[in-house]
Amino acid sequence: MAKQQELLQPSRCNATSSRDGYLYESCRSCSGNKGQTLGEDLPSLRSPADWQRAIAQTLAEPAWAWLLLGDAAHRPGWDAPAAVQAALQRGRDLARQVRSSFPSVRAADLALALGAHVARSDEPPEVGWRQRRSQYSPRTCEITLYTRSLLALTELAVRFGLGELFTTAALEEAALAHEIYHHLERPPQSAISALHRRAWLRVGPITLALREPAIDEISAHRFAQELCGLVLSPAVLDLLYLHSSPQAAESLIQQAANLPVGGEKPKE
Ligand SMILES: [Zn+2]
Repeated sequence: MAKQQELLQPSRCNATSSRDGYLYESCRSCSGNKGQTLGEDLPSLRSPADWQRAIAQTLAEPAWAWLLLGDAAHRPGWDAPAAVQAALQRGRDLARQVRSSFPSVRAADLALALGAHVARSDEPPEVGWRQRRSQYSPRTCEITLYTRSLLALTELAVRFGLGELFTTAALEEAALAHEIYHHLERPPQSAISALHRRAWLRVGPITLALREPAIDEISAHRFAQELCGLVLSPAVLDLLYLHSSPQAAESLIQQAANLPVGGEKPKE
């Protein structure tokens, strides 16, 4: 049997957020599929209602998950469709399990019940090129919400016709839920990305495998959506944040429209 060794080095994909809740830096297009597609007749995106309809049509599950995965979807050495499906299922199942034990409990109280502390920060959310929305510290079991970032996301949601769905309160609940997932996913060896590692290098009998952090983020976003009862994934706002000009957002929606129905691996 081939000996496997995990390399805990960061993915080269820059379309990933980390367990500390950074928003996404960039997202390369998934393109090339010529089969049946979603949203072939995109509306003219002139009003918030148009945006809302287009986003709901094309950035629904699993399109958002594939867009978050970005470049990693095309890398060799792993079964990306299986990993995405497993991540979505794990997030959904874990949220239902938690909800069955803690029905109607707000996320902040749920965090406390599960042994995590919640803090709010009005510090500037920018760290270098990154924007912090929320983060989780495994060392202290503390979740930090960056209020300025949440307000900026609220404004973004309004701009794209999603203001009724993603209010500031709803975004705070979703951000807390996202970090609660990371709290529950300790230790890292039990994370879904550890179960779906990608073979990076094979030398004789030795296989060096690494994790794709985006898989954990997909699972955390799915957990948050299920726990908060949202009809659209909060991940959509992360994607729109990266494509916050109307032209860039339209490009994002076009990318999503070219993803295969059912979320099969996009072909290059
Ligand atoms: Zn995360």
